[in-house]
Amino acid sequence: GTHPLTLHRFPLDQKNRSLQAWDAADEYLIEYTFANYETPKHALIFNDSFGGLAAALIAQHPTIKVTTVSDSFVSHQACQYNLAENTLSKTHLTLQNSLAPLPLDCDLILMKVPKNAGFLQHQLAQLSHLPANIPVILAGKVKEIHSSTLKSVAHFLSAPTTSLAVKKSRLIFTHTTCKPVDDKFPTDWPLEKTDFTISNHANVFSRDSLDIGARFFANYLPQGKKPIKVIDLGCGNGVIGLLTLAKMPNAKLIFVDESAMAVASAKQNIQHNLPEQIDNCEFHQNDCLTNFTPGSVDLVLCNPPFHQAQAITDHIAWQMFIQAKHTLKQGGELRIIGNRHLDYQDKLHRLFGNCKIIGNNKKFTVLSATKRG
Ligand code: SAM
Repeated sequence: GTHPLTLHRFPLDQKNRSLQAWDAADEYLIEYTFANYETPKHALIFNDSFGGLAAALIAQHPTIKVTTVSDSFVSHQACQYNLAENTLSKTHLTLQNSLAPLPLDCDLILMKVPKNAGFLQHQLAQLSHLPANIPVILAGKVKEIHSSTLKSVAHFLSAPTTSLAVKKSRLIFTHTTCKPVDDKFPTDWPLEKTDFTISNHANVFSRDSLDIGARFFANYLPQGKKPIKVIDLGCGNGVIGLLTLAKMPNAKLIFVDESAMAVASAKQNIQHNLPEQIDNCEFHQNDCLTNFTPGSVDLVLCNPPFHQAQAITDHIAWQMFIQAKHTLKQGGELRIIGNRHLDYQDKLHRLFGNCKIIGNNKKFTVLSATKRG
């Protein structure tokens, strides 16, 4: 491009600052686009991790309209931050989640291939409803583009061709055909030992079955008649909060996830399974508990994540624990499940000054820490 951009991963204060906000597939995609599309008017971007694609397009074409689609709250925040850092205008930028209808007037579509094949199918199904002959360029790591990826593209759009590999990345070229194909998501399954049905949008964690960590955690959820305020932090499809609400009819449940599809699925799962309790629930798409009222809840339940944008990292879990402490009342409790080898016990002990094991098996530990003094 013409201007060098400075791009940051998000959130800014993570320990491993050497991880990049930009990868070789982004670079390949942008270089190809600049060389082959001189005056795009409205670009539609999918799955831009930290806003690098949007920033590069806007830097090159100051009057271009950009609609950027992501399921991730953190990605959208990063996009806004990185545009501002590079003094790029966001006047012509629209951020939208992966459930919103697509704009019909775009003339160029750029997509980072998501790791989750079902989520790719959802996004391609959305594209199959657009007018015909809009060029679509997908980009990804060579090792993440399989023959099944190309088959999916061919199913929803025109027969694809691929580029040479450059720096272990590849591009896929196709275009819209306006032959609408239905999306198979959300998908449902029955929740074992209950009468509940769990509905899952395409990008929800453990979409096809109950997570084994969540299954073990389910044995250690609170019960009783107390009217306490509980947060299901990183709620996914909301299974932990749902099971808690079923055992605590007077509780208020706050579901939080950075994935729009997770929050929508959690809401759907309470509406469908415990409709009489929906008014005792809130649903928030947020980065952990940023901007939640300090000292406001009795209990935080959490099955924390352990990677972000393909990097294995525990900074999100750590941010969740710190913000949980902040959001708890005095005497309030953080209860988590973790893989034994992650040693969250040590972390919680350092943070809260106490931590006890309340459940254990070969793989997992359930830990409880109380906010004191
Ligand atoms: N509670 C669900 C369960 O037990 O099946 C999902 C647990 S899953 C291990 C972790 C969840 O944390 C995912 O749904 C993920 O989207 C969410 N997550 C990741 N980063 C987050 C963040 N910064 N803020 C809020 N939630 C986040």
